[in-house]
Amino acid sequence: MSADCLFCKIGAKQIPAKIVFEDADVFAFADINPQAPTHLLICPKKHVASLHMAEANDQAVLGKMALVAAELARERKLESGYRTVMNTGAGAGQTVFHLHMHLLGGRAFHWPPG
Ligand code: AMP
Ligand code: ZN
Repeated sequence: MSADCLFCKIGAKQIPAKIVFEDADVFAFADINPQAPTHLLICPKKHVASLHMAEANDQAVLGKMALVAAELARERKLESGYRTVMNTGAGAGQTVFHLHMHLLGGRAFHWPPG
């Protein structure tokens, strides 16, 4: 855990959030400023600042994050389409520097994302 990290604090239940999934490696919660009817954030419990900082031993948790996103999407019947996004670095819109995957669904999405 990183002492000043918002998402580490959410994972440790020191800051409240609507947690929708948790296991030993991963937790997922509702985004506080949703950009779609479903907007969840899937995080590793381990503090990793961004995808750019991920290492070989993060391979399993990165795979689990993707599978948790798919399961959360199935639970919410998002089979018509959903988007999983990792913003990496300030230039790509990352604002919280604890690795997270956005799961967005329940509306149409366009490409390129902008
Ligand atoms: P990013 O811009 O990709 O780093 O995404 C960070 C996301 O965290 C944004 O979509 C924010 O709305 C969300 N967020 C920030 N603070 C909180 C919080 N306390 N609880 C839930 N989501 C948050
Ligand atoms: Zn953290």
